[in-house]
Amino acid sequence: MHEKFKRVDFGRCPRVFCAGQPCLPVSSSDIPRSGSVKIYCPKCEDLYFPRCKYQSNMDGAYIGSTFPHLYLMTYSSSKPAKPVQSYVPRVFGFKLHKNSR
Ligand SMILES: [Zn+2]
Repeated sequence: MHEKFKRVDFGRCPRVFCAGQPCLPVSSSDIPRSGSVKIYCPKCEDLYFPRCKYQSNMDGAYIGSTFPHLYLMTYSSSKPAKPVQSYVPRVFGFKLHKNSR
């Protein structure tokens, strides 16, 4: 799995500020036939639907909810720093008021 992560076999994070961070497979459930595989970005620590049809049709119980977190504990050098930038919505250059959302 370490070689697959280094080869970016599981895909990259779609967020702009993650700058193509390689992702890891994960499931939101350990129960068979209760969900498909998702991809977990270790940089923004969020889940995404995989772009690959093979991954999206795979039962998530094969991967489980523990894998990416145990992997990053084992290979701590693979854990990236958190993104320093975040997106700020603006209208004509002005930030939105917090009550307008
Ligand atoms: Zn990300």
